[in-house]
Amino acid sequence: MGKRKGLLFVISGPSGCGKTTLGEKILSGDKNLVRSVSVTTRPRRKGEKEGREYFFVSEKEFTRLREEDSFLEWAKIFGYFYGTPKEFVLKNINQGKDVILIIDVQGARQVRKKFPQAISIFLTPPSLKTLQERLKKRRLDGPGEIEKRLQQAEKELRSQREYDYIVMNKDLDKATELLSAIISLERIKFRR
Ligand code: 5GP
Repeated sequence: MGKRKGLLFVISGPSGCGKTTLGEKILSGDKNLVRSVSVTTRPRRKGEKEGREYFFVSEKEFTRLREEDSFLEWAKIFGYFYGTPKEFVLKNINQGKDVILIIDVQGARQVRKKFPQAISIFLTPPSLKTLQERLKKRRLDGPGEIEKRLQQAEKELRSQREYDYIVMNKDLDKATELLSAIISLERIKFRR
């Protein structure tokens, strides 16, 4: 039997729905799972570290990478570019590691086209009201930014039907448990 190839998990959900926190929780307890670090032109936020949250590049550098076909998918979100480095993902999958991409709905569509076997999970907030509260509490974005993110969230929520699984993040531990169960089940699925 050949070496098992890794699985590709795609997680999307509106800004502020807890994707990052949930991703961290899942990754810390699973050695065979790696998260792809995206490239972005968005300015670094306080507390973010180069190569940990993102690789921060100029728009010129991003365009160069895109023209070199370095991205598995890319998208423009809130005026900035974001892309998934292709080589990292393919290398890990070929080595049998499972890879998680935390990307927006446009990116998820591109990944599904290239990797129909990718497993997609949509993380949804209990309500738009909770989302608004979380965005305010986070204090990462100003009022204008929050309004933009809420409008975007409404649009993204309409795309949740395109996903294999929908997980509501009302309670972080519960959502982590569900996500972990999805990953475990997908790993033992016989027919793919
Ligand atoms: P933020 O700027 O708040 O870190 O991320 C904004 C949005 O961009 C989030 O929905 C996040 O999931 C998405 N995102 C981050 N990296 C990528 C990527 O490489 N590709 C795509 N399509 N979306 C991304």
